[in-house]
Amino acid sequence: MPAITVDDITVLPRIATPDVTSVRQRAVRGITTAPRGFEGDGFPVRRAFNGVDLMELDPFIHLDQMGEVEYAPGEPKGTPWHPHRGFETVTYLMDGTFEHSDSNGGGGVISNGDTQWMTAGAGILHIEKPPEALVVSGGLFHGFQLWVNLPKAQKWSPPRYQDIRAGEVGLLASADGGALVRVIAGEVAGHAGPGSTYTPMSLVHATLSPEATLSMPWRADYNALVYVMAGSGTVGSEQIPVTMGQLAVLGPGNALTVAASLTQESRSPTLDVLILGGHPIREPVAWAGPFVMNTREEVMQALTDYEAGKLGSIPAVHGAPTTLTESTPPGAA
Ligand code: MN
Repeated sequence: MPAITVDDITVLPRIATPDVTSVRQRAVRGITTAPRGFEGDGFPVRRAFNGVDLMELDPFIHLDQMGEVEYAPGEPKGTPWHPHRGFETVTYLMDGTFEHSDSNGGGGVISNGDTQWMTAGAGILHIEKPPEALVVSGGLFHGFQLWVNLPKAQKWSPPRYQDIRAGEVGLLASADGGALVRVIAGEVAGHAGPGSTYTPMSLVHATLSPEATLSMPWRADYNALVYVMAGSGTVGSEQIPVTMGQLAVLGPGNALTVAASLTQESRSPTLDVLILGGHPIREPVAWAGPFVMNTREEVMQALTDYEAGKLGSIPAVHGAPTTLTESTPPGAA
């Protein structure tokens, strides 16, 4: 799992242990285990948010761990052309290479620690696939795709890309020097990452050596989600055990803690977690397939727009529901 690594974590800025007089460590509200599935033309994924209420995830919608998989020559797979409207897709690739092309002539290539932050906004058609040379050679592939919701006022934003290179990511160390913290977007303890977001949020990839503890401030107005991509350890104030493929939803507080077990599996010597949270948008969600809108009518309009007035079915992508899924927070307009 290369992503971005450093030879000597101890030279990085340290995250000070949160002050005991004002800290409220978040407790675990729930643990779920991601089911395995297949995406696009058949690459393996773990559906990290499966079974979790959209209100707990807000402002996020969906998260797939892509791989980790070692492809044989000729085997690497991507997605066919498909549309999106009303949100952002964030693709973080730790191993391997992915190419994006879209209907506006945009796109790019990401690999080994790069992130592509794509605002679908008003609407886009795109394809995500490994480059031809990688299809021929095969090789390791491991990454994430996160769907970030947009508030009603920004769902019609023009499409845009941010290509965040591995070397631009903010790097920090835990207080004990045993964890490497990569800040992709938002901030941790005053250290900002490069990603620009429409609503306030933070996205972090942390690698913890055996027995390392990562305790860090986490804004009280954010939700807090910890997904274990590899290894095992504990999460939360009550040190709930977690292992590869599990998501912890944390409760209220202004700090969170993750710790790595002394003994790790030989296939992953470290505990690797994605830590994410943001200020909830708290608007109704109407989600079907590749469209995430506020109302059923807007989803139907998206489909009509996509199919240019013809009847048809919603493309099945990313394990997203093909029937309308709706969520209305209490008090939402
Ligand atoms: Mn897509």
